[in-house]
Amino acid sequence: MSSGLGAGRPASTPRADDGPIRILLIEDDDGLANALVEALTARLYRIRRKTHGADLLTSHRECDVVILDLGLPDGDGLDVLRQLRTISSVPVVVLTARGDERTVVRGLRSGADDYVVKPPRVAELAARLETVVRRRATAAQPPAAQVESGDVRIDLAARHVDVGGVRVALTHKEFELLRVLAEHAGSAVSRQQLMDEIWGNAFVAVSRSLDVHMTGLRTKLNRPKLITTIRGYGYRWEPEAGG
Ligand code: CA
Repeated sequence: MSSGLGAGRPASTPRADDGPIRILLIEDDDGLANALVEALTARLYRIRRKTHGADLLTSHRECDVVILDLGLPDGDGLDVLRQLRTISSVPVVVLTARGDERTVVRGLRSGADDYVVKPPRVAELAARLETVVRRRATAAQPPAAQVESGDVRIDLAARHVDVGGVRVALTHKEFELLRVLAEHAGSAVSRQQLMDEIWGNAFVAVSRSLDVHMTGLRTKLNRPKLITTIRGYGYRWEPEAGG
């Protein structure tokens, strides 16, 4: 598999079960937030509410869909949405002011899946949420069990990698790096996305740690053309370059 996910976005964590849709609400207005939490909980959604844009970057992993207000205490919701899109494809519905067409367009260009006008009608909001979650679930594909490039063969289920027919022993973090890159074979993966998927937080100082593990991985694989460095962005697994 390569870039078959959504609109070329990174993959989101798949839902663990068929339970209620888990919503993350980012809204600083207590009155509106409380009303939404109450109304959506009554409709059997599981909803968590946060107040700052920064919360989106650390809390997105445990939800199926995000409702994002744009005027937030720590800045413009669209800025944080663009940051989110470098690491996650979780569906996002933005809350906009009435008739604000420019904001709607900017929101969708920044990676929003849909929008609702404030104050949102709960039935309409629920319908939007269901639609974007269903759309994303349809776009997701089961990950390939095996990934090959030249004489490099990865068994993602068994967590083995063979190079030239010889098993290579990797550390846990090295294998995780390899796995994330191989699951996006042929596509650029940002450093932030790697840090988010492997360390669980793209915005703390694990950048040096990433470099150390990447160096270890490359040395052990000994296939210099297999992983391309994209300067200022991240890395790409080359599907045809392992041999
Ligand atoms: Ca606000």
